Amino acid sequence: MIIHLKSGIGREKAGQMACELKAVHLMNGSDNVLVTSSNVKLVDAKYDDVIGEKFIFPDDLQLGSRQYRKKTREILIGNILIGGDSGHTLVVTGPCSVESEEQIETMAKLCVDLGIGMLRGGAFKPRTSPYTFQGLGMDGLKLLAKMREKYGLKIISEVRDATHIEEVIEYADVIQIGAKSMYDHGILRRCGTAGKPIMIKRGFGTLLQEFVQAAEFILSGGNENVILCERGIRTFENKTRFTLDLCGVSYLKEKTNLPIILDPSHAIGYAYGVPDLTRACIAMGVDGVIIETHPDPKAALSDASQQLNPDEFRKLYQTLGPVTSAIGRKIV
Ligand code: PEP
Ligand code: MN
Repeated sequence: MIIHLKSGIGREKAGQMACELKAVHLMNGSDNVLVTSSNVKLVDAKYDDVIGEKFIFPDDLQLGSRQYRKKTREILIGNILIGGDSGHTLVVTGPCSVESEEQIETMAKLCVDLGIGMLRGGAFKPRTSPYTFQGLGMDGLKLLAKMREKYGLKIISEVRDATHIEEVIEYADVIQIGAKSMYDHGILRRCGTAGKPIMIKRGFGTLLQEFVQAAEFILSGGNENVILCERGIRTFENKTRFTLDLCGVSYLKEKTNLPIILDPSHAIGYAYGVPDLTRACIAMGVDGVIIETHPDPKAALSDASQQLNPDEFRKLYQTLGPVTSAIGRKIV
């Protein structure tokens, strides 16, 4: 249950009530908000005179629920707005991993050239094997920051574990929580107090319920700026890397108030399918797509098979405008 206390109720009194109800205590400006487990459907009548409004939920999708907030949350990333009434579809691109200054600068320039405002690049990579490239770490983050300085781009980069979480929070404009880290409660809780937008990717074996509850950890920590990212789940099919769960995306659009970004690159795992899939994603009316691009995909140190080269990406990008305008949205 989410309980809005009447305005003017002191913070201390609200804190005491939160203790009694075993609730999370949040502030909405100067108003107190308490969030209990969704199992709580009733509160004692003794609280009646301090309660303004109550919201009762069938499960622990609460702060992120559309039943709680009708409108998709607005998220401002510098001067880039998504969600709310914006009708914006954000296109983010860049390499899987930052590999060198020359490599990341090529992709930064491609963004500038096309009018794209946000560059992706992994610095701390959660690889499946310990013997492959693990990312440039801090050097990678610094190169991303250099691209922000030089080209005015916003940066998204992944936090892999607790050893560098402060650094990613400091350097990135949006903090990415990867599919393999989305159960890390240290990361989730720290992102709850980060004061920057968080994009959380769905684990490939994660139920939608578990996914939205992971997002609730961040929201209930006080961070309102959470973006969901569907990037493919594991099914019986192995001709493609994963299966992009677009039915799940419909569910998330209907039931949550969180902006949604889709990642066709990791879903299919092969560059040949990325353009068609990107258009399909955009036609879903989501808030954005994130696509991996590399100056020379064959030579990429991670995810070589799925990255588009600059020409392929340019060609794809030019086809996106008509798809967004057909559904009354606009590329940003
Ligand atoms: C990535 O974005 O490069 C990545 C590792 O993605 P995921 O967490 O979805 O596997
Ligand atoms: Mn990747």
